[in-house]
Formats: sequence, structure tokens, C-alpha cells
Amino acid sequence: MLGRAEAVIIESGPDNPPKHPNPNAFDFDFDPSHYSPEQIFEAVRKAGIVGMGGAGFPTSVKIKANPQSPITDIIINACECEPFITCDYRLMLDWTCQVLAGVSLISRALNCKNIYIGIEDNKPDAIATVKKSIDMLPFIDAEVVALKTRYPQGGERQLIKAVLDKEVPTGGIPPMIGVLVSNVATCAAIAEAVELNSPLTHRVVTVSGRGIKKPGNFYAPVGMAAGDLIELAGGMTDDAVKVILGGPMMGFSIADLSTPTTKTSGAITVLTSKDMVKRKETPCIRCGRCVAACPVNINPTKIAHAVKNNMLDVAKQYYMSACIECGCCSYSCPADIDLTGYIKTGKILVARAKKLLPA
Ligand code: SF4
Ligand code: SF4
Repeated sequence: MLGRAEAVIIESGPDNPPKHPNPNAFDFDFDPSHYSPEQIFEAVRKAGIVGMGGAGFPTSVKIKANPQSPITDIIINACECEPFITCDYRLMLDWTCQVLAGVSLISRALNCKNIYIGIEDNKPDAIATVKKSIDMLPFIDAEVVALKTRYPQGGERQLIKAVLDKEVPTGGIPPMIGVLVSNVATCAAIAEAVELNSPLTHRVVTVSGRGIKKPGNFYAPVGMAAGDLIELAGGMTDDAVKVILGGPMMGFSIADLSTPTTKTSGAITVLTSKDMVKRKETPCIRCGRCVAACPVNINPTKIAHAVKNNMLDVAKQYYMSACIECGCCSYSCPADIDLTGYIKTGKILVARAKKLLPA
């Protein structure tokens, strides 16, 4: 049964433009031991924090210690592997102390001291800044792991494999092997919620792509319309043809610029006519490239075929739900089959059948 919950109303739009938070709110004096695990859990729950890397799973549930299934390793996901997106990169450089304060609170909530921060090696300044801050700050001890820059390094499974050399079982989740993965922006929000008693009302959004006149990062109210953010970034170029909520690989196109951003919207990407590749689907030649490209080791062509033929039970048997919608299979397909599109459609049809989505 659904219950009632406290809510805040966020006024977004031109009358409530992106704000500039106080960068000095977190410093050497921060002490996570001021808060009990229960207080951290409650503050995060009340603040309405969800995984801001895209998953949107309630963070309070993830950081509630479970003695039957303890977390032994915490990985902070600082990999932004999609082109154009830099919101977490800016957080690491500009709000380093706040991000690390949030990491220390997760560590305290779960009583877990093994902390790894995975950053791609094309961001040497972020690696150096975070390492230096960890050396200086008394409240955090963590290992910064420089990871190969490749797509999709920021996927939970890929990150866990790269950092710990552990595999999450297909269809499983990281806590099953004692691992918690949290995104950089989520850590910053946790610090604000616990130390400043502040709900999650704003987030950093990258507005970028070749179709944007002045690309940039904006600390914007959740719910701000995509069009208002695009205006703040100087508007669109004359050859802009496609607006995507998210990055070019995993985001989704929007036709209405009044579409609001959400807590998980890290980017708005605008593409130009030069970025668009016309695709004409041809029959599958059974080359297997999509299978080889899939980072979660499922069979995209079998799933797409099942969805196309309305055999959703078969698609589920091939672990359709494990797909992270990275787009690697479609990208590698010489027959130009939009495998990811079929899989996304299949997931929507399954959700509708379960009445989780409107028909
Ligand atoms: S989009 Fe394709 S390659 Fe990526 S996880 Fe899903 S099936 Fe695998
Ligand atoms: S990559 Fe394309 S052509 Fe090759 S097996 Fe997969 S779906 Fe078929």
C-alpha cells in the first residue's frame, strides 16, 4: 500500500535561475562521526535523494546497513563515459570537499572502510585534485583508481570488474557480492542533506553538444524545463536538429522543450545535422559483433528478434532486463539494426504488461 510522504515544491524556470551554492560549506572541520548511521539514513531519506547517475534508485535504501548482507567495498563512480557530459567532472574539481564528505557519510552509514574512487584516465586533473584532497582531509581515507577511458566504463558491472575484478551475476545487483556503487553527484547531495539539512532540489546539468552555442554546466532546480536551460547556454545553433535528455548514447530524444529535467538528468545534449547518421536496417548476417560488444554478456540479437516478434517471455529468458541500454550493440551492427531500440521497446512493453507504466 502506498503511504504519504513529505514533499517540497521546487519552483523552476526563469524566475528561479540556477543558483551558486556556498563552496565553503564543507572544509577540514567536517566530521562524519557527528552523525549515527541511523541519522544519516533518515536525513538521506527525508531529502529524497536518489541515484543521480541515472538509476534513480532511492539512496537511503542502498545505505541502510544489512547485517545479513554486509557491504565490504564502496566504489564511487566518477566515470562519465558518454561524450559531452562533464557535470561530475566539475563536481570533483569544484566541490571536492563536499563530494568526499558525502563519501565519508556513506562509509559511516555502512561501517565499510574499503573505499575506491574510479576516475577515467582522461581526467588527470580530477585524479590529482581528489588524491590531494584525500591526503589533506582528516575525515576520509580512500583509494583513487585511474581507469581506462572507454565506453561504458561507468556501467556498474564494468566499474566493479575494473576496480575489484569481481563479477555481478547476470540479473543480479552489486550488493549481492558485497559492493555498493554510488555516483559523485549523489555523494555531494548526501553531504548537503546530512550536514545542511537540505533536500535535493538542485543538481548540476551539462548543457552541451555541437548544437549549443555556449556549452556549460548549470546548478539548476530539479524540474527546470530543457528549453530554459538551453537558453541559459546561449540557445541552439541554426543547424541543431535533435535535443536529447541525457548523453548521446544513453539519453532519449525529446520533441517538447518544456520537458522538465529530473534528479537523474545530468545532461541535455543538442546534436546538429552533421552528427546524424542515416540508418537503413538490413537483415542480420549473424556476424556476432553485437554479442561481442555487449558489456553485460547478453545476446542482443536474440532479444531484439524476440521483441520484434512479440515474444516477450523469450526476451525475458535472454535477460532483457539486464541490458543497461548502452547502445554498443547497435553501434557495432553492420546491418544497422537498432538493437537497443528494440530492447528499450521490449522493456516498456513488459512494464506496461505489469501495469508499471501507462498503456
Ligand atoms: S544496449 Fe546492447 S550492448 Fe548495451 S547492454 Fe544492452 S544489449 Fe548489451
Ligand atoms: S551485429 Fe547485427 S548483423 Fe551481426 S549478429 Fe548482431 S544483429 Fe546480426
